[in-house]
Amino acid sequence: MSHKTTFKTEATASAIQPSFKFVNYWQDIYGPTAPIERLKGSIACDLLVVGGGYFGLWSAIIAKEQAPQLKVVICERSAIGDGASGKNGGFVQYSLTHGIEQGVERFSDELSELEALGRQNFIDIAKFIEQNDLEVDYEESGSIEIAKRSGTELSKRVWSLKSNGVDATYLNAKEVQDKIKISGYADGVLMPKFSALIDPFKLTQELKRTALGLGIIIFEATPVLELREEGSLLTAETPIGAITAKRAIVATNVQTDLVPSLKRYIAPVYDYALMTEPLTSGQFAATNWSGREGLSDIANQFHYFRLTKDNRILWGGYDAIYHFGNAMSRDFEVRSQTFDRLIQNFRQAFPYLEDLQFTHAWGGAIDTCTRFAPFFGKSHGGKVSYASGFTGLGVAATRFSARVAFAMHYEPNWAPLQSRYVTEKPLPMPPEPFRYLAIAKTKRSLAKEDETGKADLWLRTTRRMKFGFAS
Ligand SMILES: Cc1cc2nc3c(=O)[nH]c(=O)nc-3n(C[C@H](O)[C@H](O)[C@H](O)COP(=O)(O)OP(=O)(O)OC[C@H]3O[C@@H](n4cnc5c(N)ncnc54)[C@H](O)[C@@H]3O)c2cc1C
Repeated sequence: MSHKTTFKTEATASAIQPSFKFVNYWQDIYGPTAPIERLKGSIACDLLVVGGGYFGLWSAIIAKEQAPQLKVVICERSAIGDGASGKNGGFVQYSLTHGIEQGVERFSDELSELEALGRQNFIDIAKFIEQNDLEVDYEESGSIEIAKRSGTELSKRVWSLKSNGVDATYLNAKEVQDKIKISGYADGVLMPKFSALIDPFKLTQELKRTALGLGIIIFEATPVLELREEGSLLTAETPIGAITAKRAIVATNVQTDLVPSLKRYIAPVYDYALMTEPLTSGQFAATNWSGREGLSDIANQFHYFRLTKDNRILWGGYDAIYHFGNAMSRDFEVRSQTFDRLIQNFRQAFPYLEDLQFTHAWGGAIDTCTRFAPFFGKSHGGKVSYASGFTGLGVAATRFSARVAFAMHYEPNWAPLQSRYVTEKPLPMPPEPFRYLAIAKTKRSLAKEDETGKADLWLRTTRRMKFGFAS
């Protein structure tokens, strides 16, 4: 079958896939959301949260849980769930360090505490979902990582996982195929615990519902244009009116305008996903995927894939696209070359699903930083706290980060605030044009490492310097 298809606009969609939609699947099937409330005049509050993704929503909810007397306002420039939170893969992973290897590499002295905090955070998310009856299609199905080449790589990984207390089982090639019938992959590792799947857009809407129930005020279609310190207060200017606040949490992810120093650390990188139509019962049986685990491969250019509640396959990842000057645009969320490549790779991995069609393709920006894990800080004379740099693994980490951002304002003795994880910043990215060139060079070297199994001098050097690039 020929896979050379061109996706320029919806109107010129592939002849093979005339029904292909270039929209976020999760939002598309959700249907109409609750009406939007805009700011009407000017108001005052104790805590202003700017940004209505997971980090903003959890920040407001945790603030209200910890200090119910606070008047908390969320201000979202478009609609709740319109950012990465509403369009991601829905993998809920407990790790706060973007996986155990990164943890060992960067935070070895405090890794056991970070692992414990990450697991507790995961447990707390599950508990919150249950206690508040969130309808988010949450499945604690565990995860499997698979490798293209069998050998020592995964055995080493299993050892590293186990020695850090992670329940991990090595799977040989046959055991992988028993879990999922897939071509082009060899061995794998099964992690049955602390890994779940969720409907990401439903989570945004259910957190919004819960936040409103707690008395949190939410304004949508209300961008904060400027955040100013005025005496002991902050003023947030919007096109409609001003919000005065004693404290603020900036939760704007890739948008760094309100805390300009963040731009040194963040590069917006576009990640893409496809969704198939639902598998027939025969197709599903052929996959051997009864464990319903979330899967990813361990290459630098990696795929992640999972089942939905109605047995579609989400197939994402591989390309990570950076645009010169931290440029961002809605147009970047549709990328024909990437969708072509994703289809091609899917067909190679699942040749026996050749009749399975794709229904949706979309992309979104990830706030990549050089340490791959969120970092924290304060600005505006200490009245603003922020977290950023979730680097493609923010579904669970945003909740823990919200706890940190709250403590930075209201609970200065909370022990995790003293950790290097919270106090240290990642290595900054270089300014342009070096940023673009460094990312391009790193991507080429990562692709070469995937091919040859060997890191070149550039990768070895940047890794020694702890200058990383991932999505
Ligand atoms: C395609 C894709 C797949 C991913 N898959 C996974 C996955 O499977 N698992 C995982 O853990 N992570 C995944 N991620 C990452 C994860 O989605 C993010 O880390 C997480 O959603 C970040 O949440 P956030 O609240 O920081 O950002 P966002 O959800 O982007 O929220 C930021 C909000 O701030 C608003 N905003 C910005 N500027 C302003 C302003 N001036 N005024 C008011 N509002 C403003 C934006 O409109 C936006 O709604 C993926 C990301 C992408 C793009």
